[in-house]
Amino acid sequence: MLELRSRLTAKIGGSAAEVHEPVELAELIALVDRLRSRGRAFRVLAGGSNIVAGDAPLEEAIVSLRALRRFEKRSDTLWRADCGVPLGEMVARSVRSGLAGLECCHGVPGSLGAAVRINAGGKWGTIGGVLREVTLLTRDGRVVRRSVEPGDCAYRKTAWWDDLVLDATLEFAQSDPAATQARVAAVHEHKRTTQPLRYPSAGCIFRNPSPTQPAGLLIDRAGLKGTRIGGAEVSTLHANYIVNVGGATGSDFLALMALVRERVQEVHGVRLEHEVEVWN
Ligand SMILES: Cc1cc2nc3c(=O)[nH]c(=O)nc-3n(C[C@H](O)[C@H](O)[C@H](O)COP(=O)(O)OP(=O)(O)OC[C@H]3O[C@@H](n4cnc5c(N)ncnc54)[C@H](O)[C@@H]3O)c2cc1C
Repeated sequence: MLELRSRLTAKIGGSAAEVHEPVELAELIALVDRLRSRGRAFRVLAGGSNIVAGDAPLEEAIVSLRALRRFEKRSDTLWRADCGVPLGEMVARSVRSGLAGLECCHGVPGSLGAAVRINAGGKWGTIGGVLREVTLLTRDGRVVRRSVEPGDCAYRKTAWWDDLVLDATLEFAQSDPAATQARVAAVHEHKRTTQPLRYPSAGCIFRNPSPTQPAGLLIDRAGLKGTRIGGAEVSTLHANYIVNVGGATGSDFLALMALVRERVQEVHGVRLEHEVEVWN
């Protein structure tokens, strides 16, 4: 039995009765095959930093990816890693090695695989900028290794959105270590001053409707900063974050998300789409 709150960064959610945690990719592939052939529904959990879960026990099985941690240097600048490797480890290791390209992902919690699925990053760039190859377990059960083409990675979306990312190969550029460190420091400072990192959260709740209409600005202009339901609060620092200010439940989060959506629709006529995954 797994209490989801122990694995989700927002510290919310109910329990899951069936949990699998493969330690090798081959074991993961066989497990998914077995679950699918039995018609058993499952959900994939990695770092849990982009998931909002309700409080009811989860009916689906959980496939946890955190034990899949193989890492390999194919050359000084070309690195391959399993989906469960923490993204932060890849950032720190590349920066320490004087390699540039992944500084944009400094401070993004979670795993490499989920970052590759959603094309994680921010205003400094995204992981798609260094992504060269992915191995996927497709919805129809095939293992496909493919190179990354222009257009595969877009804003919080990729061509392999519905597949399971098994591993990824990243290519870095040799760089002046001091310059790379300075870029990381700039990203760090930006995050420290603009994101509510003191409280548990699931990161940005909604996708930006367009580059000129950030969801946070729309929520702020709808007067919602500081709005609370139970222990969930629309952050006063960054309105696209809902933070757990103490004892929040999944229902608190979900109710506040629905309220924000409704008000933004009323005030701006814009329907916000979730960036987080909702497990309910
Ligand atoms: C404080 C904070 C700051 C954040 N800042 C940023 C930011 O700056 N930029 C940004 O892009 N994101 C940010 N996020 C969001 C989040 O960290 C990213 O979306 C991250 O990539 C999620 O990784 P995870 O391993 O935690 O995924 P999880 O939360 O475990 O899973 C997220 C989704 O991906 C699926 N998934 C997980 N692994 C795989 C896989 N290998 N293959 C296919 N599907 C998979 C899951 O089923 C789920 O649907 C932030 C979150 C927090 C809490």
